[in-house]
Amino acid sequence: MCSMRYVIRLINEYDPGPFPDEFEREVVQLASNENPFPPSERVLKAIKESTLRINRYPYPYYSQLKAELSSYTGVDENRIAVSNGASDIIRLVADILLEPFDRVYIPMPSYTMYLMFSMLRDARVETQVFEGYDVDGCHSRGKLAFLCSPNNPTGNALKKKVIREFLESFEYVVVDEAYAEFHGESCADLLGHYTNLIVIRSFSKFFGLAGMRIGYALADESIAGGIEKIRNPFSISYLGYISAIEAIRSVDYYRKVADMIISEREKLRQQLERKFYVYPSRANFLLVKHTEPELVNRLMEKGVLVRDVTGLEGLHGHHFRVSVGKPEENSLFLEVVEEI
Ligand SMILES: *Cc1c(COP(=O)(O)O)cnc(C)c1O
Repeated sequence: MCSMRYVIRLINEYDPGPFPDEFEREVVQLASNENPFPPSERVLKAIKESTLRINRYPYPYYSQLKAELSSYTGVDENRIAVSNGASDIIRLVADILLEPFDRVYIPMPSYTMYLMFSMLRDARVETQVFEGYDVDGCHSRGKLAFLCSPNNPTGNALKKKVIREFLESFEYVVVDEAYAEFHGESCADLLGHYTNLIVIRSFSKFFGLAGMRIGYALADESIAGGIEKIRNPFSISYLGYISAIEAIRSVDYYRKVADMIISEREKLRQQLERKFYVYPSRANFLLVKHTEPELVNRLMEKGVLVRDVTGLEGLHGHHFRVSVGKPEENSLFLEVVEEI
């Protein structure tokens, strides 16, 4: 007899895309929107010096990280919650806000974790497709809306006016800003006017710490406090904690890296646009529409990993998402596309 919750059977497993671990030979990883460049010297040094302390628990309030985040974002420390990656923050937001049957609204195509964590709370989820995630206004009402800006996988950013409309219509609004630093804009300034806004950020993309698992939320004190209260007390590892602090302290280095990534993105776009439709992007990846069903597999056979997002709700026809890599990785990717 199976007494597992019924919803577990309904939920589609998250597809993490291809990983280098699954290949015997060296591959180029452009499937997960990671930062391809090495960490700053400060981060590397801090990690080395911290290894002898991994027998100790990290400080569960992560105060030093919150202090750095506060000066980095301009948001008060008591309005910051931290946890084990932005994906964990998404789950925690669903956990503190959603009762069974609450209405959750998700414009598509977007990040699929919003759906999974809402379903786990037995919420009533409504998705609505906007071509190219061109969300032009708020078309619904309810308990919680999940917005993503810049959006994964389309790459475009939402206008502040649209975000405001959502804030007026929903009890709570999440704006997932995992790629905010590449865009150079944030809606965090709206936190002063709206107590129902939750901005989610990650250290996995701009700060290149995907392997460390650190994310945070900026929100009203009650919401930040709620998240802090129910997260696992030690959800960020000691090395993650130390790395995140030092990453913020070397933000100038990461800004230079981001500038490089953005200029590479534009070069990549120019080349790809000769053959494909490429969506406008404010992030460190490009969404590409194509007509060759085997393209992603052929790339993989040749050692280049991109993310096949064909079939995602709201995307019609074949699509892949390619992360901007190092210059030599991007050239190799283009060469292989050319061959195919
Ligand atoms: C990558 C990504 C995340 C997950 O970030 P982690 O901090 O690695 O958990 C969250 N939201 C979006 C839109 C992302 O692309």
